[in-house]
Amino acid sequence: MQPNGNPGSSDLHAATAAMHPYASRVFRDLAARVPWEVEFLQAVQEVFETITPVLEQTTIYEEEAILERLVEPQRVHAFRVVWHDDRGHIRTNRGWRVQFNNAIGPFKGGLRFHSSVNLSGLKFLGFEQTFKNALTGLPMGGGKGGSDFSPRGASDREVERFCQSFMTSLYKYIGADVDVPAGDIGVGAREIGYLFGQYKHLTETFTGVLTGKGLNWGGSILRPEATGFGLVYFTQKMLERRGESIEGKRVAISGFGNVAWGAARKANELGGKVVTLSGPDGCIYDPEGVSGEKFDYMLELRASGNDVIKPYADRYGVEFRPGARPWAVPVDVALPCAIQNELEINDARQLVANGCKYVAEGANMPTTPDAVRVLREGGIVYAPGKASNAGGVGTSGLEMAQNRTNTHWTAEHVDTELHRIMTGIHDMAWDAAERCGNPGDYLQGANVAGFLKVADSMVDQGSV
Ligand code: GLU
Repeated sequence: MQPNGNPGSSDLHAATAAMHPYASRVFRDLAARVPWEVEFLQAVQEVFETITPVLEQTTIYEEEAILERLVEPQRVHAFRVVWHDDRGHIRTNRGWRVQFNNAIGPFKGGLRFHSSVNLSGLKFLGFEQTFKNALTGLPMGGGKGGSDFSPRGASDREVERFCQSFMTSLYKYIGADVDVPAGDIGVGAREIGYLFGQYKHLTETFTGVLTGKGLNWGGSILRPEATGFGLVYFTQKMLERRGESIEGKRVAISGFGNVAWGAARKANELGGKVVTLSGPDGCIYDPEGVSGEKFDYMLELRASGNDVIKPYADRYGVEFRPGARPWAVPVDVALPCAIQNELEINDARQLVANGCKYVAEGANMPTTPDAVRVLREGGIVYAPGKASNAGGVGTSGLEMAQNRTNTHWTAEHVDTELHRIMTGIHDMAWDAAERCGNPGDYLQGANVAGFLKVADSMVDQGSV
């Protein structure tokens, strides 16, 4: 990278070295056009590097300019969000909805409210979402949206006013058959409630326009747990393939939000011992394992609005490591569940040195490309988020199915479907990797399987 964070020519050379010439050409053009969109370029690079076997087999994707079209969002809505804070001051934030690709279904993906949100980040998330949603086997295209507004530190009323203003700018562009947003970082049940209420108010309709809704008004049971549960179901499959199980394994989890909470609960239920959690302030090491009422305390901590994990250490008398990440703790399984690029090269080296055997991503792109390389070269079995964290959006798909058919499924039914989705993704990625001659390579398998589904649908539908 150059000092300004933009890719220089030697970076570009390295980035495209492993690509098919067609992918390399499209990537270079893209990097020249949006050199500042570093996270987006990272996500595209990761996919382009792994689809060489597909591009070698046929020229149809090049003839149809599929890669050029895949890296360009279908549409981007950018708007200002003006709201009044509790002191009566007028506040202005930026809002976006990136409608990335609707080749296989309506745009679908979360909304992220966080001070770090920008267009590059949302483009990377929308791009990833497109392949992730394809892997679920459900008819959902890819999208992502959000704002640089952070609900942390804002009052309930402020969050309500913000959400209403956000939806006032967005409502014309979404709909149950058009684009179905959901939650992500900073957008949970409360925000979805305010967003849904405003949509309903403005359109005078009651439809499944959002997922992650409350159980009383069209939400699906198990949606809050789904990303974390699905992650552990996927991890279980990875272990089973090697004749192992999660029982008795030591597990490191980062974050303490929705995904970390679900993953910790399910890992604990299946006999694993979750020994770490983390926040922006550092990580905790709990040698006894997170269990029992500690799960409720995680929810309490999150609801408090203070983005810190230290109170967990104070309450349960365990070690707090200020400013540290959990990856130095010796474990068998690591599940990064916080945010993009939270597991860097030195963390990866540490995991390898400590004998960790499995890394499955609960967050979107939490592992940097260098760190992925170190993990894989170190013999760690690695699953990319677009495969292992797809249980959240998969269950959103189940919520959409329930809304369309006016039904409400039981927890058993939803859980069975979630299992089926995660097993399906695992097997699809496994088979695709095998066909590419790289058995067990979930990164290549997930990228190839997701790419083929979206790319073939685009070919079928002509040059739009
Ligand atoms: N934000 C979640 C994800 O990254 C869920 C999206 C959804 O349910 O639409 O997949």
